[in-house]
Amino acid sequence: MKKERRAINGTIGFIPTMGCLHKGHVSLIEAAKNECDKVILSIFVNPLQFDPSEDFDKYPSNFEADKKIAENSGVDLIFAPTNTEMYPFEMNSFVSTGKLSGYLCGKFRRRHFDGVATVVTKFLNIVTPQNTYFGQKDYQQYLIIKKMVEDLNFDTEISVMPTIREVDGLAVSSRNTYLSPEERKAATAIFRALVKAEKEIINGKKTVADIIIKSMTELEKERLIKVQYFEIVCPFTLQPKTVIDNNILIAIAAYVGSTRLIDNIIVDIDN
Ligand code: AMP
Repeated sequence: MKKERRAINGTIGFIPTMGCLHKGHVSLIEAAKNECDKVILSIFVNPLQFDPSEDFDKYPSNFEADKKIAENSGVDLIFAPTNTEMYPFEMNSFVSTGKLSGYLCGKFRRRHFDGVATVVTKFLNIVTPQNTYFGQKDYQQYLIIKKMVEDLNFDTEISVMPTIREVDGLAVSSRNTYLSPEERKAATAIFRALVKAEKEIINGKKTVADIIIKSMTELEKERLIKVQYFEIVCPFTLQPKTVIDNNILIAIAAYVGSTRLIDNIIVDIDN
């Protein structure tokens, strides 16, 4: 990778992914192409960010299909290291993330964000991109990486791009491939619940508990859905809100059958 990286002149836009590429990833590639001379995309399912009970072993992968999508979207270099290339020896150094990892997904995936921050640190040092792109769908991940880059003086600009959705609103995700047709249908309730909460807020409702109880009904109607969290938080600190005041992040994590999906929307109260 070092040799290939050195051969590239001009600015580099970088997109870290776990593969199983879809139109969400393509939107990040397009953003990078608009802003940078060359685009590097990594494909790596990072064992450090999975808990033992999670889906590391069965995470979907199809390198040939990914290669086609990446090439057709204009990626200049795919970096798809093996596990031993990324972790050739026992690691002694890890990135430890702070408070932001204690909220939302961090409450349920304890070591997840330290694993993400560690692998992203390795990638940023290998790829040395001027710009790095993340999706809003994984908003907490974006925020933690952005803060890490500021805290530790990485020389890259972090951008967040809007969530790409299917026509029925479901956020596009590699994990959607796990869903049975029945589960796929039920999964649309996640976006419906987010939109319902957003509408309540736009209509002037102020009490978070009331907004959540009302919007939760969308999810409760679906017997295949088990909600892990449904929260309204500050988009900068991720601290839960009790009253709607400034801009807010509405975020949901839910199991649809055995598949855990996340989604969120940001409501800009000032506008
Ligand atoms: P993943 O391969 O799931 O780790 O995702 C790699 C990057 O793509 C992350 O920054 C995600 O937030 C982003 N991403 C995943 N799904 C979407 C989507 N539906 N819309 C926009 N970005 C996405």
